[in-house]
Amino acid sequence: MKATLIDGNALAQTVRNEVAARVRVLAAEGVQTGLAVVLVGDNPASAVYVRNKVKDCQEVGIHSILDRLPADTTEAALLARIAELNADPTIHGILVQLPLPAHIDEHRVIEAIAPSKDADGFHVSNVGLLMTGKPLFRPCTPYGVMKMLEHAGTVLDGAHAVVIGRSNIVGKPQALMLLAAGATVTICHSRTRNLAEHCLRADVIVAAVGKVGLVTAEMVKPGATVIDVGMNRNAQGKLCGDVDFEGVSQVAGAITPVPGGVGPMTRAMLLVNTIEAAERRARAPR
Ligand code: NAP
Repeated sequence: MKATLIDGNALAQTVRNEVAARVRVLAAEGVQTGLAVVLVGDNPASAVYVRNKVKDCQEVGIHSILDRLPADTTEAALLARIAELNADPTIHGILVQLPLPAHIDEHRVIEAIAPSKDADGFHVSNVGLLMTGKPLFRPCTPYGVMKMLEHAGTVLDGAHAVVIGRSNIVGKPQALMLLAAGATVTICHSRTRNLAEHCLRADVIVAAVGKVGLVTAEMVKPGATVIDVGMNRNAQGKLCGDVDFEGVSQVAGAITPVPGGVGPMTRAMLLVNTIEAAERRARAPR
């Protein structure tokens, strides 16, 4: 392997240690940082995600509330619960685990979260603030990718970055964050003609698609930084990303693995968003 490995587990631990120190500073001022996680239904993957989020909170000293609501919870009941959490001064961040059951309108629920507590950064106010260059909360996955690029020493100012994927939770906010960092950004998606041609011109590739082996060595410029957001299962049932790691790591300058790359950083950035929210509230003029 020629590329430098960007170790998401190690960097996430560093981020958690930094958050823990900031949580202690606020605690010394009498403020206990709090995150509420709301899970509706019994989707097994979602149950694992929220359990991990609660565990991460415990590690860094953030007080967490886990609301497990039954699958037949009405939209009105969920909105009422969010209204309570919005008004609860002990809660600085609120996260509603997606996807929600089909009878609940996800958009309406996200928009019901107070923008100042929107720890996932999905509320249109926060999307707009990111778009206009004044971000409050940044979506956790692309925020984590930016931390990884910073840690790897990847120069973004003037670089050409290719983001593959245009979802609201990864591709689009990722492109905006790279743009804000001075990169020239190309956003590719399922309708893009000749993906390889775009990728070959990239100094940085962020793959966020959900297709095993989409990015191959022939698509990567020697020395480029390749970030793999994808989370897939290969034919053997093994967790893998969108990037052919074996091949691409022979060409790239730096690369993230799956598992142990973007995944742990996504989790860590939720904690960062929560402590940032608590600090903002604590430092706000009264
Ligand atoms: P998504 O909403 O399904 O979006 C996938 C994007 O990929 C779409 O924009 C789609 O284009 C594009 N696409 C599909 N086929 C393509 C192709 N052949 N060539 C180029 N682009 C193609 O998925 P997402 O929520 O953004 O997630 C993407 C991946 O990241 C998934 O594997 C997900 O599990 C993973 N993920 C990981 C983390 C983490 O923490 N590691 C967090 C979030 C997501 P169209 O828009 O044209 O359909």
